[in-house]
Amino acid sequence: MIYEEAVAENAWRLADGLYRILLPMLWSVPFVSVYLVESRGERMLVDAGVDTETSLRALGRALKAIGVQSGGIDTLLLTHGHPDHAGGAASVQRRWGGRMLLHPADMHRRGAEGADVRQWAAAQGVPQDAVEAFAKFRPNGGVDLGDDVTALDPRAPIRLGELSFDVVEVPGHCPGQVMLHEAGRGWLFSADQVVEPEAANVWLVPGLTGDPLGAYLASLRRTAAIEAGLVLPSHGLPLRGGLAEHVGRQLRFQEEYVERVRGLVPEAGASTWQVAAGLEPAMRDPSVLLEVLAALSHLQATHRLRRDGQGVWRHTER
Ligand SMILES: [Zn+2]
Repeated sequence: MIYEEAVAENAWRLADGLYRILLPMLWSVPFVSVYLVESRGERMLVDAGVDTETSLRALGRALKAIGVQSGGIDTLLLTHGHPDHAGGAASVQRRWGGRMLLHPADMHRRGAEGADVRQWAAAQGVPQDAVEAFAKFRPNGGVDLGDDVTALDPRAPIRLGELSFDVVEVPGHCPGQVMLHEAGRGWLFSADQVVEPEAANVWLVPGLTGDPLGAYLASLRRTAAIEAGLVLPSHGLPLRGGLAEHVGRQLRFQEEYVERVRGLVPEAGASTWQVAAGLEPAMRDPSVLLEVLAALSHLQATHRLRRDGQGVWRHTER
């Protein structure tokens, strides 16, 4: 069995017809992996990377080394709508073709902007001098997919040559994230569902409501039950086995985080901002507030906290 065979500076063959391609990013996470799958002359690219010339050139070098000509991709599957996965999709499709597939829950989702965000920030108790930072914050990066995108039907397996990929819906990290499972080969394309256990992974962004962290915990439990000998995450190295243990660590970290956030709510109640300031007093990173808000909303959904008319979080009476 092949372990990882380099085929280009940024591409490795992991198994027959399976390649990992590493692409540069823009933010603190340095790289994203996209995957090329080939079977009987058909090709699928899983994710597209960010929309920069540097990333497109790196993808071009890797695909050339693998032997993919321009127009040579049949399916361009986007695991979710975040800019490091879907940002480059329109450019990739223009050059290499392919039917672009994305879960409908992640289509046309640009999030709230401007005035809406100011109003949202006020409801979280964000002080006046910090509101502008949030009004400028673009958690979804304004991804433009172009016009040629097809809504993914999660009930229909994706067929490629002799392979068949089940679509596994894993909401939480964002509403429309999916994983692909090729049961015969034991491959799981795990997107941003399988991450370093101690990483923040759910943010309640302006414009979203509900309990995405609750959805994430539930989808993590379903993920742990999947049989996969080769797990292919978008960030970090592939995992050869050990999925249930790895996901178990992610679950424990998230559950402990939720309890920690609950412990930061004083008896007299507090705004989202005040709770978040208990974790990170300087609050230089707006995403901390969004992560705390996801935890508070989960505590509310599970009746451990309530929120009064002024947006103040309070413990429920026991
Ligand atoms: Zn993501």
